[in-house]
Formats: sequence, structure tokens, C-alpha cells
Amino acid sequence: MIPGYFLRRGAELAVLAAIVAACLLDGAAQAKDPVPLPPLRRSIPAASPIIPLPRPRPTIPLPGEVVTEPAGPSECQLRMTTDIALIEPLHHITGANGCGIEDPVRLSAVMTKDKVRVAITPAATLRCTMAEALTNWIREDVAPIAATLGAPLGGVANFDSYECRGRNRVFGAKISEHGKGNAIDIKSLTLANGRSYELTDITVSKPMREQLKASACARFTTVLGPASDGFHENHVHVDLAERHSGYRICQWAVRDASDLIPLPRERPADAPPREP
Ligand SMILES: [Zn+2]
Repeated sequence: MIPGYFLRRGAELAVLAAIVAACLLDGAAQAKDPVPLPPLRRSIPAASPIIPLPRPRPTIPLPGEVVTEPAGPSECQLRMTTDIALIEPLHHITGANGCGIEDPVRLSAVMTKDKVRVAITPAATLRCTMAEALTNWIREDVAPIAATLGAPLGGVANFDSYECRGRNRVFGAKISEHGKGNAIDIKSLTLANGRSYELTDITVSKPMREQLKASACARFTTVLGPASDGFHENHVHVDLAERHSGYRICQWAVRDASDLIPLPRERPADAPPREP
């Protein structure tokens, strides 16, 4: 009995030792070759427009919000194929005080015409048509303009997208276009070489930022930056607000250092000659 017991016990210990050794080896291999992150969830492949989008991710409603599953992908979502952007459809959001989005998507990346993936960080929750306008701007204007800085565009920093709030976060103010998923605040651009450029940084190329402003004002009905209303000194807001008169707002003072340091006054003609 006793020798048999020890034999069985010994065999069990050997198996246990083998398992521990295998785990240690596996751990070492994992440390050397980290497990890659799962690929991004894809939207519609470009060549197969009939393949349906994945079911919208269930949205956890905030207090006062109601979310409903849409009947199917909208025409806008069908246009946003994977060769243009990576989107994820969301449930319709009906918020309090007139907030909400009828056709919301989460935009996580834009694909440039050179097939470079431009990450939107964090991913932006927007009305699909706003996501499409932003995508077109990034693909057709922002990427080529940013590339003049020396490397392809790699990322866009999203400062704020959908948020149920009053304009400029003022309580009781008219609902901001952010509350309709119709606006995004952009902080900076990052190039593929890792360098970041804030849109309101006076040391960043002024001609480049002037081009960004001109292109934004041509596409969006509202563009607000520094010197607009005091709430946009460190980012740029763009939206697609609809106004009866077709009125557009383009207020972004693109400044550089010369705008902040006053030039010396011109020397009066009758001033005494300078000391040598
Ligand atoms: Zn904004």
C-alpha cells in the first residue's frame, strides 16, 4: 500500500512540475512576444456594400436618455466603407432637453487616400452625417495639409464629441451642437513620426494652420477657435449647425508669436541720432 501510494504521489508531483514548467515557459514566450490586440471591428468592406454592418453595440443610457435599436444601417452608414473610415453603428440616443442623435456612429479612424489609418482618439460619437463630413475633411484637406510638416498624418485628438450640454457648458444655455452629435472639438494632430501639433499652438506653422482654417470654414457651418468667444482658446470647434439664413460662422484667430509680442513703435523722424 505504502510504496504504491508514494508511487502515485510521485507521479502526481511530476505532472504538476511539468505543468508549472510549461506555464513558466509560456509566460516567458508571452513576455517576449506580447499577444497582439484584437483587430478593430470592421465596418462594411468597400467592395461588398450589401454585407450588413454589425448589430449596433448596446448603449447604456445615461439618466434621462432612451436608446433604441435602429431598423438597419442608414444610407450614410452604407457610404462609410472601410476604405474611407472605421465606424461602429450605435443605438439611437434620445436624451433629455432636446439632446440626442438619430443616426449615431462611433468613428475610430479615417483612412486617407494613401491608405494610411488616421486614428481618432478617443473615438468620436457623432451623427453619421457629421462623421462623414469630418472624414471627408480629414481625407481631402487635413491629411495633405498636415503632411507638409514632414510626415503623414497619423492621428487626430478628439477633445469632445457627443455630450448633452448647453453651449460652452453654460447651464441653461441653448443646447450645443455637441448635444446633437453634430460637433467635434479638435485639440491636435499627430503625425506618423509621433510628433503632435496643437491647432492653437502659436509655435506651430502658421501657414499650415491658416490652410486648416480655410478648409474647415469651407466645409463646416461653424468654426470656433481662439478669439471667438473665450471658450475656444485651446482647441477648435467645428459643427454643421443649420441656420435658416444659411449664415456661417468662421472665427478662429490663427496666431503666431508676432501677434502676442507688440512690435516696437516706429522711430520718430525728428528723433536724435542713435549712439554709435
Ligand atoms: Zn465644441
